[in-house]
Amino acid sequence: MKPRIYLDYAATTPLDERVLAAMQPYFSEIFGNPSSAHFYGQDADAAVEEARSKVAGLLGCSSAEIVFTANGTESDNLALRGVALAMRRLKNANHILISPVEHHAVSHTAMQLAEVFGFDLSYLPVDAHGQVSPQAVKEAIRPNTAVVAAIYANNEIGTINPVADIHQVCQEHSVPFLTDAVQAAAHLPMNQAAAHADLIAIGAHKFYGPKGVGALYVRQGTPILPTQTGGKQEHAMRAGTQNVPYIVGLAEAFSIAQSEGPRHAQRLLALREHLINQVLETIPGAHLTGHAVQRLPNHASFVFEGVNGNTLLMLLDAAGFACSSGSACKTGNPQPSEVLLAMGFAPELALGSLRITLGRATTSEQIEMLLTALPSLVKRARQLNRA
Ligand SMILES: *Cc1c(COP(=O)(O)O)cnc(C)c1O
Repeated sequence: MKPRIYLDYAATTPLDERVLAAMQPYFSEIFGNPSSAHFYGQDADAAVEEARSKVAGLLGCSSAEIVFTANGTESDNLALRGVALAMRRLKNANHILISPVEHHAVSHTAMQLAEVFGFDLSYLPVDAHGQVSPQAVKEAIRPNTAVVAAIYANNEIGTINPVADIHQVCQEHSVPFLTDAVQAAAHLPMNQAAAHADLIAIGAHKFYGPKGVGALYVRQGTPILPTQTGGKQEHAMRAGTQNVPYIVGLAEAFSIAQSEGPRHAQRLLALREHLINQVLETIPGAHLTGHAVQRLPNHASFVFEGVNGNTLLMLLDAAGFACSSGSACKTGNPQPSEVLLAMGFAPELALGSLRITLGRATTSEQIEMLLTALPSLVKRARQLNRA
């Protein structure tokens, strides 16, 4: 029987059973609407506020600075669109500056702000590792810049950006800085929110929490308009009755990720280093993508010369290995990755990408099985590409 080995933890993670247990009472026992004045509502509200205070504690900020949302994507949307519109109304700021390696939740929002709302959109340069330099931000920021965005840790290539330094440049120019930390929050210490950015997006299902819930840190004093209007929930920044069990789950999962993360990171980093070294050594025409050192501890990504990444993925799938060619949202898309193109990869080479992301359940036996199978699968993918 073929194995079933999950190596796509950057796409999503399984729910931690401790998180499920924490969520359970809020589906039927404690079911009130947090906005209701009676005791049913008060109990639900207490759970939401306890979760908010827990998340705030982990980020090192105040509860007033935490907004719960429906996912990481919505956190990015609220941050970018909400701040751009508020900054335009307040200061006539009409320029948006983002990195070219953002998740689509940021880049497609920026494109809509440009195409539909008339903002002037420009892109920061990145180096060959997909990293943004604070100096580049200093050079590209304008007197009318409304918002700057640079991803904290990239989902496709794992590269970590120097967000605190970028934030400092933005602060010197009084421009709000958004960082998408949806990947970073699963692995890196996050307790210095105010130093890292004015807006920080996270999503629970990337750190063993439930799908369909996220949070946004909004530093006190950051101009922002709600993008979903209605009731006064979430400090009037995000209308809609809160998803109480999922919010409880996000807080519990984030707490576990932040406390147990360093232990997992150490183990996964060793496995990951072995994986990268062996792939580069045993497979001709293999190249690492992203930064070799400043990258997520669980993240390995490559391009293979003469390979179609989708073909390789199908061969891996048939052999029992679940990996990705980049971002899960791009599955089935034969276009080369925009992230790799922005880093200077030739389109033919960028088509041959593979992402392998490790997680809590990954064992060294699984990595050895992959290392045994991969060289011949790459060879087969090359033959199919030539045929
Ligand atoms: C997964 C992901 C998102 C989207 O989060 P969802 O909760 O799935 O909407 C945004 N940014 C990055 C970097 C991600 O990895």
